[in-house]
Amino acid sequence: MTTFTGKGVYGAVAIGKISVFKKRDAEVKRVRIDDIEREKQRLEHAKAASMEQLSEIYEKALKEVGETNAAIFEIHQMMLDDDDYNESIITMIESQKVNAEYAVAKTADNFAEMFSSMDDAYMKARAADIRDISNRIISNLSGERSEETAVNEKVIICASDLAPSETVSLDKEKVLAFVTAHGSSNSHTAILARNMNIPAVIGTGDDFLAAIKDGDAAIVDGFTGEVFIDPDEETRARLLKKQADDEKQKRLLQELKGKENITLDGTKVHIFANIGSVDHIGEVLLNDAGGIGLFRSEFLYLESSDYPTEEQQFEAYKKVLETMAGKKVIIRTLDIGADKKVDYFNLKREENPALGYRAIRICLTRPEIFKTQLRALYRASFYGNLGIMFPMITSVSELEKILAICAEVRAELKAESVEYSEDTELGIMIETPAAALISDQLAQMVDFFSVGTNDLTQYTLACDRQNPDIEPFIDTHHEAILTLIRMSAENAHKHGAWIGICGELAADTSLTETFLRMGIDELSVAPTFVLKVREAVRNTDLSKS
Ligand code: PEP
Ligand code: MG
Repeated sequence: MTTFTGKGVYGAVAIGKISVFKKRDAEVKRVRIDDIEREKQRLEHAKAASMEQLSEIYEKALKEVGETNAAIFEIHQMMLDDDDYNESIITMIESQKVNAEYAVAKTADNFAEMFSSMDDAYMKARAADIRDISNRIISNLSGERSEETAVNEKVIICASDLAPSETVSLDKEKVLAFVTAHGSSNSHTAILARNMNIPAVIGTGDDFLAAIKDGDAAIVDGFTGEVFIDPDEETRARLLKKQADDEKQKRLLQELKGKENITLDGTKVHIFANIGSVDHIGEVLLNDAGGIGLFRSEFLYLESSDYPTEEQQFEAYKKVLETMAGKKVIIRTLDIGADKKVDYFNLKREENPALGYRAIRICLTRPEIFKTQLRALYRASFYGNLGIMFPMITSVSELEKILAICAEVRAELKAESVEYSEDTELGIMIETPAAALISDQLAQMVDFFSVGTNDLTQYTLACDRQNPDIEPFIDTHHEAILTLIRMSAENAHKHGAWIGICGELAADTSLTETFLRMGIDELSVAPTFVLKVREAVRNTDLSKS
């Protein structure tokens, strides 16, 4: 077995045989011509034929991937008609007296080069589009059609790269997956694969192409970006199970999408999603989550080589809020330290990092970092329905300091006439036994609680969550943990606050009924668990004791 890794652009598993996509990359020769007018006429005919083919492809795409995604072929038609592009080809034919094929190929090279050198990832990806339409014109000039391919059975299509029109022109019924050695996840090929619901991996590298041939057995894991050639039995069994689980999940998605999170006796609950990066919002929407219950903002710090600026943070938070279009988005302030280390914070080595200098403790002792984040958050609050949540709370005095800094930030913004939402909710994580035990006082100071069961379990049971040897000692259903959650729920409601659970336990459906009976208002889980929890909620009957 040989394994190659690229980037998965559509999460699904495909098991089958490889078919290497043979591109007819028309070899273009430079030929000197005498009759310029005739050459220009040849070009016009080839362009007209290309235009017609693109209309046909657009119609096919419209049926298969919908209007938004088919739009790329309208853009291709517009590119074909672009003045600069056409002027460049004509000038080359006229001034250099070269054949139309050569003029189109050279112009394509120049334009593709220009797009590739742009900073913007979207524009970079347009290089492939310009090559796609240019190859089409060249094929029409030489009387060949490049998208024809001999695919007779369901196969895993492997190529160096695939142009958008090649992707759509393939018969979807015969394609198990796409794997390309090159390409970017922003390219329309990747976007189309995603929308055709076909597992796809891009960027497996040239070694991949050198290693494969038609008919090789392969497994494509679009979740991890792995491609296994000649898979062993253990891998095949593992991926078969993954495929079955995924298909079950997708069936659930179809059945439960758009349905309410309501128990048989009519109790409603919010089911939100947890994310750790702006890139995961798509999964939140796909899985029909009602909002984001935990956005782990530390990714911004972990991905960066220096403290992210207020502006960088503002843009990221604004994007999440705007994409969620008015649905609740709870962003947790920096939770760095313990297992999440960042060099530029210069944190000292600690004997017991989980009990050490982390999260809110860093924010309160380095208020400049905290205030930068809060300014970015409040500024972004103007663009949606934001809740700000503070991690690792253990005392009333900590929370008093936090609320004072929040008030300071709001006053500063007001003085600068910067807009923010007055409705921004403030909440805390209940993830230490101390917070649960004093939740009666804490609930009077905030709008909401969210129980972080991962840390609450670690601190209640004195079990390091990072240590695999301790695993057998961790009883996630321990009565002590459930008691602390129940106590927090009662205290939240007593003071008009709402309470959610955002630790992994929220997705444990054997506890869904227990949580609902406690009066938990919101469960926030990984995006792929949203529908599983919705199903559990809809099968629960709280009227029976
Ligand atoms: C938790 O502790 O349960 C939690 C949600 O936070 P994290 O896992 O990021 O520590
Ligand atoms: Mg935690």
